[in-house]
Amino acid sequence: MNLRTIPLIAGILFVTACAGESETTPSVAAGNCVVNEATTGELRIVSTVAPITSIVGQIVGDTGVVVTGLVPEGTNSHTFEPPPSAAQVLGEADAVFMNGLILEEPTKDLAQANAKDGAVLCELGSETITEDEWIFDFSFPESGGKPNPHLWTNPPFALRYGEVILEVLSKLSPDNASQFEANFDDFASSVVALDEAMTTATATLDPEQRKLVTYHDAYAYFAKHYEWTVIGAIQPSSFEDPTPRDIAELIEQVKAENVAAIFGSEVFSSPVLEQIGNEVDVKYVDVLRDDDLPGDPGEPEHSWLGLMRFNFVTMVEALGGDASALEAVELSTHIDNAEYPQ
Ligand SMILES: [Zn+2]
Repeated sequence: MNLRTIPLIAGILFVTACAGESETTPSVAAGNCVVNEATTGELRIVSTVAPITSIVGQIVGDTGVVVTGLVPEGTNSHTFEPPPSAAQVLGEADAVFMNGLILEEPTKDLAQANAKDGAVLCELGSETITEDEWIFDFSFPESGGKPNPHLWTNPPFALRYGEVILEVLSKLSPDNASQFEANFDDFASSVVALDEAMTTATATLDPEQRKLVTYHDAYAYFAKHYEWTVIGAIQPSSFEDPTPRDIAELIEQVKAENVAAIFGSEVFSSPVLEQIGNEVDVKYVDVLRDDDLPGDPGEPEHSWLGLMRFNFVTMVEALGGDASALEAVELSTHIDNAEYPQ
């Protein structure tokens, strides 16, 4: 894909996401990812959760820029407290890419306390949607004050993350800008391919089949984009176990809505969904991966794209649809030398 087509595609996807907004309102909050001057010397980049580390890692590619992820895969990123050793890593960073939307406050605090002069602390979510587009729902109720932060499960938003990352990196390291752009071009092509494949796969499900019940509440923005409905997410906002009353209510809902499958996850394994599955006699699928990338670091499937493809295929097939368009999305363009803590 020609790079010059990318902003147009991003713009089209983004216009859809922002439909209804007045023309005079800027689509994103400005200013938290501003680069004042290029870095001299070796560029060091830090990011938080693995899907974001993967997007940064792919745009950096094999330029030799150091990318360090902070949140180990398979940990609960919503309650993650960075270890004291992270202060040094954050203090040496030229840019720290975070999701924002109040996902990583302890890491953000540590980054702010230790940032070196001129370091860029960039919350990608704030560059992607405005606060009035935040979704509050099951595990992220408005009363708790924290919105659903999972923008990256929606491909157009992940593409926007990539655009912001490209802009920051290119200003920090103009010498590498053309390589970053070429790598972003590959990333953008794969996002567009995944988005089209998911639209195709969605069309193989009847509208009344496009219903999600999950343990972890990670698909709010995905569901809005593809016109699916999230019936419920069982994980309480405290991230502790659900109460018997929560469970009873969800059982009633699963029966009333006639859902085909319910989805648990590897990261947040819980006997609760299995119990619901047995009581209501629906398929229980416990392999969604949340932030935990498939495969091993360095392998193409160990990527944002590999993670999304796996989760989307899993959901479409369990609900009775045809996921072959998703299976056909190529992973092989992904080159990523980021350091992933395990
Ligand atoms: Zn999550």
